[in-house]
Parts: sequence; structure tokens; C-alpha cells
Amino acid sequence: MTSFDYDLFVIGGGSGGVRSGRLAAGMGKKVAIAEEFRYGGTCVIRGCVPKKLYVYASQFAEHFEDAAGFGWTVGEHHFDWSKLVAAKEREITRLEGLYRKGLENAGAEILQTRAELVGPNSIKLVNTGKTVTAERILIATGGHPTPHSALPGHDLCISSNEAFDLPEFPKSILIAGGGYIAVEFANIFHGLGVETTLIYRGKEILSRFDQDMRRGLHAAMEQKGIRILCGDVLQSIKQADDGRRVVETLNHGGLTVDQVMLALGRVPNTKGLGLETAGVNTNDKGAIVVDAFSRTSAPGIYALGDVTDRIQLTPVAIHEAMCFIETEYKHNPVSPDHDLIATAVFSQPEIGTVGMSEEQAGRAFAELEVYRAEFRPIKATLSGRTEKTIMKLIVNAADRKVVGAHILGHEAGEMAQLIGITLKAGCTKDDFDRTMAVHPTAAEELVTMYTPSYRVKDGQKVA
Ligand SMILES: Cc1cc2nc3c(=O)[nH]c(=O)nc-3n(C[C@H](O)[C@H](O)[C@H](O)COP(=O)(O)OP(=O)(O)OC[C@H]3O[C@@H](n4cnc5c(N)ncnc54)[C@H](O)[C@@H]3O)c2cc1C
Repeated sequence: MTSFDYDLFVIGGGSGGVRSGRLAAGMGKKVAIAEEFRYGGTCVIRGCVPKKLYVYASQFAEHFEDAAGFGWTVGEHHFDWSKLVAAKEREITRLEGLYRKGLENAGAEILQTRAELVGPNSIKLVNTGKTVTAERILIATGGHPTPHSALPGHDLCISSNEAFDLPEFPKSILIAGGGYIAVEFANIFHGLGVETTLIYRGKEILSRFDQDMRRGLHAAMEQKGIRILCGDVLQSIKQADDGRRVVETLNHGGLTVDQVMLALGRVPNTKGLGLETAGVNTNDKGAIVVDAFSRTSAPGIYALGDVTDRIQLTPVAIHEAMCFIETEYKHNPVSPDHDLIATAVFSQPEIGTVGMSEEQAGRAFAELEVYRAEFRPIKATLSGRTEKTIMKLIVNAADRKVVGAHILGHEAGEMAQLIGITLKAGCTKDDFDRTMAVHPTAAEELVTMYTPSYRVKDGQKVA
């Protein structure tokens, strides 16, 4: 019988890797996990968690303004970037410690090193040069922001990685990209008082989201004072004598800002990983190709999370990890379910969404009922804000199943989590109609839109 150093060797200590390593070690398997940077990975160190903390930080300016409408007088206030960065650092260090502790308690061997494949069952620990062997290898190395090397002056730009820890707080920033990371950071920096411009080559921000959400958020962001340049791209970035960035755009001429942030997509971390040596295939984007059970082209080597470029979200990486453990160690083959994933954009206002956009559903079904409400949230009546909440249910007219739910407004992410259950359960519009409202909430609108706002037949809107 062949013997290996480990039953399972995990490369990457992020969301997917840590969950896999912890569960396998907890089952008594001999597990090692290698991380080259910080345990917790993108989500904990430079993604979801610090991002959400910064979203909260950026909302206080509006809270202070809104307070007046409710009788409060707020005294002098001042924002200190270095205090926020330090507080964030303390929190992510605490979480990093919890991730390590979880692995340790389960009995996994924690390695602080880059790891690379050097053969079908062999891994090199880069720090020491030592080679170890494992019966199974799991690659969960995540991804990194695309540097957009073809752009002249790209090296003068920051990515989301650096944005969290800028040594100097900028007075102005230009963010390139139209995805959720670009949009969230535009709202964060604007809320913290930075003059913010978003530049995106597409016609409208957040492609693949429902049109109403895209247009509604665009309008709300512009109303707050964020400049959005759609249908435009960066041509070049140069450094001025005073250290600022001089940017040329294709359609809006030049502008000078303190920082330029590129949020133009993410690249899987597969370079230099030794995949060819081990016989692991990648696609044209460099992502590892896997089957329905996260198995790569090389026997005994698995991959999950962002490195496989299926759906780049933390809960998805964790779910794929749990399916991997069920399949490989519990003799219960389970393939990850990527259908109807509820998700949020932590913009201001937020977007919460699950299922098909109106456009997608219009292509998938012959006839739709669309229920749409647009209203001023109750808090805005006294605060005086003009912001609107938009809610939308997309219903397949044939069987009355709700196939899409989209919310633009405060706490939309929280609502999306719950409404996600109803879509997953296959609820119909009649189930929504017989659900009692919770009053007074914004979410009650989701169960009180009784008549369709309009119908869509063969992809065309009809009265
Ligand atoms: C700014 C930002 C905001 C985000 N916000 C959200 C959000 O709100 N909600 C959400 O669900 N998702 C969000 N995400 C996405 C989420 O962070 C990822 O989907 C998730 O972290 C993927 O987990 P993973 O395990 O695949 O990879 P990661 O968490 O990226 O972990 C991979 C780890 O592998 C390590 N590594 C790489 N190569 C090696 C090697 N050769 N040897 C050793 N270690 C290696 C890396 O250092 C990293 O720690 C966000 C991402 C970003 C960038």
C-alpha cells in the first residue's frame, strides 16, 4: 500500500480551503494547509469583511445629516482614516486568529508558506524547499485583481487590495469598472468625503443585474454626487509633479485625481502553481477546469472557490468545500448547487437580488407578470432624503412561480437572504399573496403587490 505524508493537502487558507481543511481534519484525516499570505483569505483580509466595515464607516455622514429631521443636533464631527484602518486591522487580525484556531482545534497542520505542485501527489513548500506528498490535494488559491497591464500607467493605479490600507487618505479618486467591487468602493469613498468618479466602458453599471436595479442605483449614486462616466475607458495614467494622477479618458478628456483604482475583474491564482507538471487543466482565463464534483483533470487533485471561476462568492466557496468533503470523505456524492444564489451589492442604497432579471426571464419564459413598486422609504420622510426604494418580483405567468426578486434600498442584502429561501423552495406568487405583511417595513411591499405592474410577452413589455 502506498503511504503519503498527508491524507489531504490544502493549498490556500481562504474561505474554501479553510473549511475543507477544518472539516477533513475534524474527521480524523491527516491534513496540512498552506497559506502564503494571511489565513482567512480574500474574504476576511481584503474582501467582504473589511469592505462591509468600510461601508458602515461611510454611512455616518448621511446619518449625521438625517438626524436633524428627527430632532437631533449633531455636534462637530471629523473622520480619521488612520483610525478606521487600525480598527479594521484589529478586527481582521481577530478573525484571522479564529480561522487558525479552528484549524488547530480540528488537528490540521498549519503551514505559513506558498505551496506549489511538483507532481501528481507531491507539493513543494516554497519557504523551506521541502517536498511532501498527499493522497488528495485541494487547490483553493482564489484570485487577484487584474492588473490591466496593457493600460499605460497601470502601475500607478491601486486595486481593491491596496484601497483598504492607503497610507494617505485621498481627496479625489477615479475608479474604473462597473462590477460590484467598483460600485461598492465608489460609494465607500464618496461617503467618506472623497470626490469620486466611476468610469465604466459599458452602457450601464452592473451588467447582468436587473435593469431597474442598475438604473435606480446609477441615479441614486449621481444624486449623492458620485460622477459616473459610462461608455468610456481609461487611455493612460501619468504621474504629475505633485504626485497626483493625470488621467486621459477616451470620451471625457483628461482629469487629475489623487488615486486611480482599477476594479476590472479578477484573475485566478494559478500562475506558477505547477499545474502542468501535475496534469491539471486550465481554461483560457487560467481558471482550473473541474467537473461537477470539483475534480480536476488529474486524479486525486481537486479545486474549488474562485480559482475555478464558477461563481466568485464566499458562501459558494464554502458550499463547494462542504460538497467536496461529503463526496470524498463521507461516501455521499454531492455536487455544488449553483442555482438561485441570493446576493447583494453593498452600495448605498444596497441591491439585494435572487433569480432572474426581467431580461433573462423574458428570454426564458413565454409570458411574465412583473410586479414593481417604487416608493420613498419611511425614514426618508423626516430625514428629507429623496432616495427611492425599488422592489420587483418577476413571475412566470404559466405556473406563477416567482423566478426573480430584486430590491434596491436599505438592508436589501438582508432581505435578499430571506427571499432567497422562497425562490429556492419554488414559491408561487400566490404563496407571497397569502403571507401576512410585517408593518411598517419596506419588505412588506414584497407581499402586498397584488396586481402586475405590467406583463412581458415573448420578451416584449405589454400593458
Ligand atoms: C473587494 C472584495 C469584496 C468582496 N465582497 C464579497 C461579498 O460581499 N460577498 C461575497 O460573498 N464575496 C465577496 N467577495 C468574494 C470573496 O472574497 C471570494 O469569493 C472568496 O474569498 C473566495 O474564496 P476562496 O477560498 O476561493 O479564495 P480566497 O479567499 O481568495 O483564498 C485563497 C487563498 O489562497 C492563498 N494562496 C494563493 N496561492 C497560494 C499558494 N500557491 N500557496 C499558498 N497559498 C496561496 C491566498 O493568499 C489566499 O489567502 C469579495 C471579493 C473582493 C476582492
